[in-house]
Amino acid sequence: MSEFDLIVIGGGSGGLAAAQRAAEYGARVALVESHRLGGTCVNVGCVPKKVMWNAADLAEGLRDAPDYGFAVPAGTHDWVLLKEKRDAYILRLNGIYEGNLAKRGITLIRGRAHFADGRTVTAAGSSHTAAHIIIATGGRPLLPAIPGAELGITSDGFFELPHRPQRVAIVGSGYIAIELTGIFAALGSDVTLVLRGETALKQFDSMIGESTLKVLRDDGVSIVTRGWPSALESDARGSLALALRDGRRLEPFDCVLWAIGRAPAAEELGLERIGVERDAYGFIVTDKYQSTSAAGVYAIGDVTGRAALTPVAIAAGRRLSDRLFGGKADRHLDYHNIPTVIFGHPPIGTVGLTEQAARDDYGDEAVSVFKSSFIPMYYALTAAKPRCDMKLVTVGPERRVVGVHVVGPGADEMMQGFAVAVRMGATKEDFDDTVAIHPTSAEELVTMR
Ligand SMILES: Cc1cc2nc3c(=O)[nH]c(=O)nc-3n(C[C@H](O)[C@H](O)[C@H](O)COP(=O)(O)OP(=O)(O)OC[C@H]3O[C@@H](n4cnc5c(N)ncnc54)[C@H](O)[C@@H]3O)c2cc1C
Repeated sequence: MSEFDLIVIGGGSGGLAAAQRAAEYGARVALVESHRLGGTCVNVGCVPKKVMWNAADLAEGLRDAPDYGFAVPAGTHDWVLLKEKRDAYILRLNGIYEGNLAKRGITLIRGRAHFADGRTVTAAGSSHTAAHIIIATGGRPLLPAIPGAELGITSDGFFELPHRPQRVAIVGSGYIAIELTGIFAALGSDVTLVLRGETALKQFDSMIGESTLKVLRDDGVSIVTRGWPSALESDARGSLALALRDGRRLEPFDCVLWAIGRAPAAEELGLERIGVERDAYGFIVTDKYQSTSAAGVYAIGDVTGRAALTPVAIAAGRRLSDRLFGGKADRHLDYHNIPTVIFGHPPIGTVGLTEQAARDDYGDEAVSVFKSSFIPMYYALTAAKPRCDMKLVTVGPERRVVGVHVVGPGADEMMQGFAVAVRMGATKEDFDDTVAIHPTSAEELVTMR
């Protein structure tokens, strides 16, 4: 039995951040990880996804290059080479994370953790105790409960694909579905996006889903609405058919990818033994200090079901360790105004309230909305002419900007600075008084009428 000040379960974004910050304060820390260090983000999330997004972005650049005078030979994209280089990069990152733990004197325990009691965690055949235990076990992709679901893959399987499938169906309407649709389509696959309702990205401002689907349609993606899968079938040659509840049958596909949501990785921890409360979906319930209903046990990141993003998990983990070991008694993460980017084609950036949320919170009269829709200058010379759509949501007579939403090239790099402005309470007048940067798409955000 070994004793620590802190045991962290899960070596992903949140767990690593919390463990390292605690160790920097001098705490004796153990981190338990059952798979590869870095968790979802590094191994099957943000990082490999952004590599694939970069490849897709280059493919779009090559499509446009002849319009800028380049003679681009019609080449085929080498998925095998890209995957090899991507995997090698991730392996390097795994090693760097392990080195970072060693540098800070953190004990890495390789194994699956379970609670023996509220102070004791067992893993890899031994028991470890600590006054504080952080659960940072993240989540996993869901499969639908229909016959043949296992014939499809999830986002985890996407990163294992040895070759690019030509005919792909993606089932889902969240950001992962939109991102993977954009990547496959830009790299040359024929993609069918199957939505349960009429639109996608429903938790974001309505402009975002509408603009995104329009661009995807213009790019040749086939969009099926009101599509509730009832079965996935395979013929003798491995060709897949997706049956829908209303009798429609979508086929043939080489790959069907489920992007229908994620569940918390909390089942095997033995939480019932120590009285940690979970919500109806299994996510661990925490207060604003990340404390669970069991004293001395905390949860951060995706396993809490709140804003499932890497920087959120990191920020929650660091603040928690600041509080527990850094003497900062009230330190906690404010979950408002978290900016996010959806790496679609085109990218989408958003921070703050949707127009509807602002109307619900402040009343219709208090809300003023400013919009802009234009073709970015880059496309003046190209055959492809996707639009960029922007929206500012303001409230009150002072027109405080409470929401900024952008769909279009550059939105990914545009949003971080505007998130600072929103967090600081900038008004429309502040935006208008800011001198524009010309010629850019971003300048539209400070010149809207
Ligand atoms: C396809 C995809 C793309 C994404 N893209 C982005 C993006 O662009 N930007 C962004 O901000 N976020 C993105 N995310 C979300 C981001 O990856 C997560 O929000 C983030 O990884 C959550 O961190 P975490 O620490 O909560 O959990 P994780 O990173 O999932 O880490 C949890 C770790 O706990 C380990 N574990 C689980 N159970 C146990 C156990 N019992 N014992 C020991 N170890 C255990 C797991 O092996 C894992 O390593 C993406 C996610 C996906 C799936």
